[in-house]
Amino acid sequence: MPLRPRYGDLLLIVLIILPLLVALPRLGGLGGPPELWLTWVGRVAGILGLAMMLLAAAVSIRLPGTDRWFGGLARLWRLHHWLGFTAFILVMVHVLALGLAAVPASLDAAVATLFPPLSHGATWLGWLAWLAMVIFLAPTFDFFGQPHYQRWKRLHLVSAVALLLGLGHALLLAGESALWWLLGLAGIGAIVWRKLVSPRVARHPYRVEAVERLARGVVELVLRPEGRPMAYEAGQFVYLTPLDERLSAGRGEEHPYTIASAPSDSRLRIGIKDLGDASHALQTVEPETRILIEGPYGEFYGRHFPERDQLWIGGGIGITPFVGGARDIAERGLTDGRVHLFYLANSPERAYYREELERIAAGHESFAFSQHYSRERGRLDEAYLREHCPDFTEREIYVCGPPAMNAHLKQLLAGQGIPASRIHSEVFDFL
Ligand SMILES: Cc1cc2nc3c(=O)[nH]c(=O)nc-3n(C[C@H](O)[C@H](O)[C@H](O)COP(=O)(O)OP(=O)(O)OC[C@H]3O[C@@H](n4cnc5c(N)ncnc54)[C@H](O)[C@@H]3O)c2cc1C
Repeated sequence: MPLRPRYGDLLLIVLIILPLLVALPRLGGLGGPPELWLTWVGRVAGILGLAMMLLAAAVSIRLPGTDRWFGGLARLWRLHHWLGFTAFILVMVHVLALGLAAVPASLDAAVATLFPPLSHGATWLGWLAWLAMVIFLAPTFDFFGQPHYQRWKRLHLVSAVALLLGLGHALLLAGESALWWLLGLAGIGAIVWRKLVSPRVARHPYRVEAVERLARGVVELVLRPEGRPMAYEAGQFVYLTPLDERLSAGRGEEHPYTIASAPSDSRLRIGIKDLGDASHALQTVEPETRILIEGPYGEFYGRHFPERDQLWIGGGIGITPFVGGARDIAERGLTDGRVHLFYLANSPERAYYREELERIAAGHESFAFSQHYSRERGRLDEAYLREHCPDFTEREIYVCGPPAMNAHLKQLLAGQGIPASRIHSEVFDFL
């Protein structure tokens, strides 16, 4: 993903800096003896840290459409993680700097600054907020291995406690509180919306109409809307929550899946590969099961140079956004320029969408299709790309597949002198 700044980034920067600008006159200067500048650094770190914590929560609101201000939900989650981790580091700097600032007076003074009598509620609220942050963030450190996704999501509620405590700490200490109330409302309001309101009012009810078996461990669900169909663009994704009591796992859990149907199709088609408990259970979901859909999210085909032809490379289940794109071309009968899709699979049995994609290519001049089997030819290389799509280096490029494939392709394409800004990739993992 190229790190192009988006409008949303600018908004975030302003909102992070604003509380600091408001507080600056009260903080004094940066110069002077160590105790003065360390106090200044400590306070600045605390203000920025809390603003980032609240904004990390605010951007997790997941209102369909708003993610595009930040370049799609996948990029927004990365921003969310970055804000959360940076906030944690700043909070550590805040504590350390304020403690060190008191050391020149005496060690006792330093200890008393950090651990004052219990009557000094503001400081203890700060410590409790820090503790909640540690409990919440600890599972994400590599040391503890990969966190279990659903448990990690439930643990996010502890982050709401950290926010409330941190906000209390700031409100008791800050001279100017209106801005903190506003940021607090944005952060805590986003969590309340996500956890309590949105599941009840913002999900579209669908029912499973058919379950089409594509290959071993891969099905395509055809979903029929119970009300007005959700509008979406090719390549976008949704959160899917199945409600069937008989499912062996994942009932009531939301998981992200790409929409593989054309936007003009009133049915949603979603290709699902068995990659764990919930996706395994969906392989045998019964027709007529109720499914809640939240979205759409992302901007997979957010094209930056619409005049360029496109190169699409999809591997494994990462073919789904391209199936959606190809079905869209088949429905509309046109493309904005020429498209060449490379479908990377291990072997013919694993190229489950091949026949349909070949049919679309046969009927549409502007859509070309090439199949690549890694068991026969090894990894995709420059010679294969050039043989089938001689001008591939001139195109706008979209890549979606397993992380190892994405990494290999980025290296291969960069080696051809293609700038990163022209390569758009998606990995099916938010962690
Ligand atoms: C934008 C996006 C689009 C996707 N599109 C498709 C698709 O079209 N077809 C398809 O088969 N798969 C798709 N996936 C992957 C799919 O979401 C995971 O395979 C599924 O959530 C795994 O859940 P599980 O319980 O079966 O497995 P688990 O064993 O619980 O999880 C396997 C891995 O999937 C990830 N994961 C699990 N739950 C979630 C979640 N709620 N949110 C984000 N990541 C999660 C975790 O990194 C985990 O390591 C997509 C993922 C993303 C992020």
